[in-house]
Amino acid sequence: MRDVTFAYPGTEGPAALSGVSLGLHPGELVVVLGRNGSGKSTLARLLNGLLLPDSGTVEVDGLSTSSADGIWEIRRTVGLVFQNPDNQIVGTLVEEDVAFGPENLGLPRDELRSRVDTALAAVGLTGLERREPHLLSGGQKQRLAIAGALALDPAYLVLDEPTAMLDPRGRADVLRVLANLRARGTGIMHVTHHVEDAADADRVVVLDGGRAAFEGTADVLFGDLERLKTLGLDIPPVGLLARRLHDAGAPIPVTAVRADDVVEALWPSS
Ligand code: ATP
Ligand code: MG
Repeated sequence: MRDVTFAYPGTEGPAALSGVSLGLHPGELVVVLGRNGSGKSTLARLLNGLLLPDSGTVEVDGLSTSSADGIWEIRRTVGLVFQNPDNQIVGTLVEEDVAFGPENLGLPRDELRSRVDTALAAVGLTGLERREPHLLSGGQKQRLAIAGALALDPAYLVLDEPTAMLDPRGRADVLRVLANLRARGTGIMHVTHHVEDAADADRVVVLDGGRAAFEGTADVLFGDLERLKTLGLDIPPVGLLARRLHDAGAPIPVTAVRADDVVEALWPSS
């Protein structure tokens, strides 16, 4: 994304996104944070051409989203997953739902079968092929939505608050799937309001009023409480506790934000 500005037609005031430049590489995890209305969903929709920039360019592996020729290739290359799993299910059976995208590519039968099987395996839903999607848990539905995106064999996945509607277990399952995909080389952009999700990211981008107000590592961001506050981000309670323990002399990094990291710092697993 190079110097991208986008305003929704008919709106006044500041653009939803202003002058944002950003890159995502294969195997990289970029986490996007920001208060409500800061432009996160707009950013996600610009990345696969659902929205087109007013100025600046969005390029996917050399193809511009603004060129009519490239748009279908781009939609195949950048998978998009949204917050509400119920809105993303189109099939009456799990396997039909995953097959929907590749079917529209006109793939041969056996290639289709192998795409579906591979995608379901990647999200841990093997065995549920003939299940009706509405009988799945929220976390399973969201993993099904991810499988639907994976069936198109995308190089990049952009997820817009994919765990916002899930319970802690469903959330943990989805995060595990993302970690596995990243390890296998998929470039992942994870838009989230869970500040602690940034802890594993290669880079963190914080949007504020449509601008990229921070870009850097989680350690730098978490090390600056004042900055977090200015950006409208809440440090999780574990992060505050870690800070107090650190100040009291415990061997805990001041930037720890997750319980596991605090436990690991206090009682390192051998
Ligand atoms: P949230 O955390 O609530 O999901 P967000 O960071 O995803 O917010 P966006 O949805 O990208 O923010 O919205 C950015 C700005 O654009 C906001 O001011 C919002 O009101 C405005 N906006 C979003 N969608 C539309 C739309 N369809 N039409 C007009 N304005 C919109
Ligand atoms: Mg949003």
